[in-house]
Amino acid sequence: MPFDFNTAVRKRYVTLPVPRDFILSSGAPKPQILWVGCSDSFIIETETLDVLPEEIFVHRNLGSILHNRDLSSESALDWCLDLLKVNHIVVCGHYDCALIRENDANEVHGWHKDVTRLHRTTAEYLSETNKNLSEEEHDRILEEIYVLAETEWIRNQSNVEKAMNERGLQIHAFVYDKVQNRCVRLVESKMVNGTK
Ligand SMILES: [Zn+2]
Repeated sequence: MPFDFNTAVRKRYVTLPVPRDFILSSGAPKPQILWVGCSDSFIIETETLDVLPEEIFVHRNLGSILHNRDLSSESALDWCLDLLKVNHIVVCGHYDCALIRENDANEVHGWHKDVTRLHRTTAEYLSETNKNLSEEEHDRILEEIYVLAETEWIRNQSNVEKAMNERGLQIHAFVYDKVQNRCVRLVESKMVNGTK
C-alpha cells in the first residue's frame, strides 16, 4: 500500500490526552516501545510515558518519518520488530513542526517529498467540505493528518501486520504540543470505544 493522504484526510478522529500510564512499565530495562519522533521536537519521552528510559528505543529524524524507506529508518523498524520484539510503536509528531508547515518545493534531498502532496490533498478536502480554519488550526490539522498517514502506512507493512496478529503489537499516533508541554493521541472514532 502506498503512502496515502487521501484516506488519512477523511478519517474521523478525536484527540485525547495521553495518561502517563498509557503504556505500563514492565519495570525491566528492556525496550518495549519503538518511539518515532522528530529531531526538532523537544519532547522528553519519559515525561510523557512513565516507563524506564531503557524501555524506549528512540528513532528520531526530520519529520518522524519511517515511510521514506531510508536505510536508518528501515533498520530501526526491523531491529525493533524482529530482534527486540517491541509491543508498541509510537509515532510522535509535534505541532509547529517546520518540516510539515512549510509547503516549499525546495526539498532537502527529496526527504519531504510528500509534504507538497499533504498540503494539496488537505486544501482540496477543506474546500470540498467548506471548512474554514484559522492558520493555527490548519497547521495543526496538517500535522495530525501526517501522523495518521504515517501510522496507517506502518500498520500495512508485512512485518508489522505479522507482529500485530502474533503478539498484539499496537501502533499509536501521538502529537506533542510544546506550548502546553503535553502530548495528545489521535484516536479514530471507530476505535474510541475499542482497544487502545
Ligand atoms: Zn519537527
